[in-house]
Amino acid sequence: MIRQDVANTLLIVVHRALPAYFVGIALLSFSIHIHAEAPTLDALTRIEILANDHPDRALQQLRALESEARKAPMATRAAFLGALGYTQALSGDAEAAQRTSSELEALAGGNREIAAEAMLVRANALFVRGSLDAAAASAKSALESFDAHSPARLRYWARHALGSILFEQARYDQALTHLQEAARIAEDNGWARRRGMVLNSLATLYLNLRQYDRALQAAAEACDIARRGNDTAALANYKLTEANIHSATDTRPAQHMALNESLRLARSVGARATESAALINLSDYYLSSGDYAAAIGHAEQAMPITREFQDWSGEATIQTNIGLARILSGDTASGKPLIETALETYASHGARNDEVAVLREYGDALRKTGQSAAALETLLRERTLSEELLQSEKQRVVLELQARYEADKRDREITLLNRENALKDAQIENHRLARRVWWLLMVVCALAALVVGLLYRRVRSTNRQLEERNEELAIQSSRDPLTGLYNRRYFQQRMAQLDASPADLATNTVRATYLIDIDHFKRINDRRGHPAGDAVLIAVAERLREALREADMIVRWGGEEFLIFVPRIRADQMAELAQRIIHAISGQAVAYNGDLIPVTASIGYAPFPLPPGGIRLPWEREINLIDMALYLAKAHGRSRAYGVARLLTEGDGGIERIEHDLEQAWTNGLVELAITEGPPPVPVD
Ligand code: GH3
Ligand code: MG
Ligand code: MG
Repeated sequence: MIRQDVANTLLIVVHRALPAYFVGIALLSFSIHIHAEAPTLDALTRIEILANDHPDRALQQLRALESEARKAPMATRAAFLGALGYTQALSGDAEAAQRTSSELEALAGGNREIAAEAMLVRANALFVRGSLDAAAASAKSALESFDAHSPARLRYWARHALGSILFEQARYDQALTHLQEAARIAEDNGWARRRGMVLNSLATLYLNLRQYDRALQAAAEACDIARRGNDTAALANYKLTEANIHSATDTRPAQHMALNESLRLARSVGARATESAALINLSDYYLSSGDYAAAIGHAEQAMPITREFQDWSGEATIQTNIGLARILSGDTASGKPLIETALETYASHGARNDEVAVLREYGDALRKTGQSAAALETLLRERTLSEELLQSEKQRVVLELQARYEADKRDREITLLNRENALKDAQIENHRLARRVWWLLMVVCALAALVVGLLYRRVRSTNRQLEERNEELAIQSSRDPLTGLYNRRYFQQRMAQLDASPADLATNTVRATYLIDIDHFKRINDRRGHPAGDAVLIAVAERLREALREADMIVRWGGEEFLIFVPRIRADQMAELAQRIIHAISGQAVAYNGDLIPVTASIGYAPFPLPPGGIRLPWEREINLIDMALYLAKAHGRSRAYGVARLLTEGDGGIERIEHDLEQAWTNGLVELAITEGPPPVPVD
């Protein structure tokens, strides 16, 4: 016995080429906005409601509206195509629905909502064709493209469609979530009829989950809504669901009542599909109650309706029920061919589960009527088929598991790849940062090196400047600024050094010191001015430099006095040098500002060590001695040189006496003086 079940459409195996009204209830979730300003949309809504019970009539009405609808604004056109696709799917024409979906997609352009509507029509088309995975994917895509502002009708449609598809895939948990959400949206928007339909679907879902209380509650609520809305066709339908729940809980009187009410209601409004389902279920009921005549009677009443709807499955069920009833009532000969026909129908449509179920009940009926051999044969047929089915079911489950495993694996791989990518990105970023740090370090080092280099150069140049300055200072401190000759301080330092380590002089060689004083220099200053005096001093210095050798030290001793230190000279050449100095100074008058200034000088000099004994004296005493010789030159007429040639006394204290008074010593014959005369000095005025 097979129960025909309209309300329980979510359980229908879709590849059985369902009659349109079964699919209709499963996917009944389409709704159109009712726009007051667009009466065409009102018409579409009415047609959509009609489509759930009479898809062919709905299609006819849509065709009548088509030319007008296609001229309407885009939103109306999209709604029309949505309704058309939905109805085409309900009428079982998957290809037409698919074409309408493509048309909607082309119309959408960048419009997200119309694109989603196209996806939902495609989901319905795929569902009808039995491509449940693809249908679920399409409905999911539509759902994912929505946000809180998307139209409620589309969100509702997507939820209900997805919930129904997942139910078919036996993914009850997920189906439950989507159907509950669809119910919530319907309630929020005051869509009583749609809420009733979703509750009816939920009732069937709970029935499958064996949650009978909830199933009954949902079915009762659905019936209540239908009753309040005076929607008799829907109520007839929901009563079938209620009957199924009572059947599952084996509450037969309630089941019987619900079925009869469904039949009565369906007939009262001409809901033929529901009427047929109620009749088949009643025949099923009577079959299990042992009332074979009633079973046959109800089944036969359903037959013309199933033919009208070209419902092969319903027809096969009817044949089975009649066949079984006949066998059980003792007429095996007329029952058997009906059952074989039904089995062939199921086999030809690949409905193997149904085939197995029919074989089982057929075998039971044969056994009950004492036909053991035939019962055994049928049992063996059933066993073989169920094993095959089990194998293919196993295979399907394995394949499904494999597909899910592959999908999970891919997800994991994608996650891993993403992680790897993130890691690589982080590594690249690290490298980039490290490189940047290195660059910065290098730049800092280069800058530091530059700064150090610059500082070093600066220090070096400062040092060089310092050295130069020191040299300058040394020169300045040892030179006379006017003439550029050595100054007295320098001479003193040199003499102190020389005295500390006196040079080894060869025989006949002495060192000699000449002290020179310009004659009447004061008068030059007085008569020609101080600058003229300076010019004379500069000229004399120059002339001395020219007359003397490199090794000789020329010192500006002070004022108009010069000192010449000759480190090495033969004693007999000293007078000659005195002569040369006199000639250098007074050989020519000094030219200054167009004037010629005649210049003469007096000189005192002496050799050291003093001949003949080679007496050495500290340099201060040497200077003192030649200063006395100079004084004598001045005193004896100027422009001349007086040189101490040698000592003529050998006795002790001779030198002290000479130092004390040179003129006296000379007069007393204690010392020999060499006298060199120069040109006559400039006469005193
Ligand atoms: P005498 O023949 O006795 O040496 O007579 P004098 O005039 O040369 O000697 P005195 O010592 O009386 O005068 C020296 C003068 O030289 C005095 C001073 O004003 C002058 N004098 C000293 N230093 C400089 C100088 O650098 N430039 C000039 N123009 N005059 C100087
Ligand atoms: Mg003087
Ligand atoms: Mg003088």
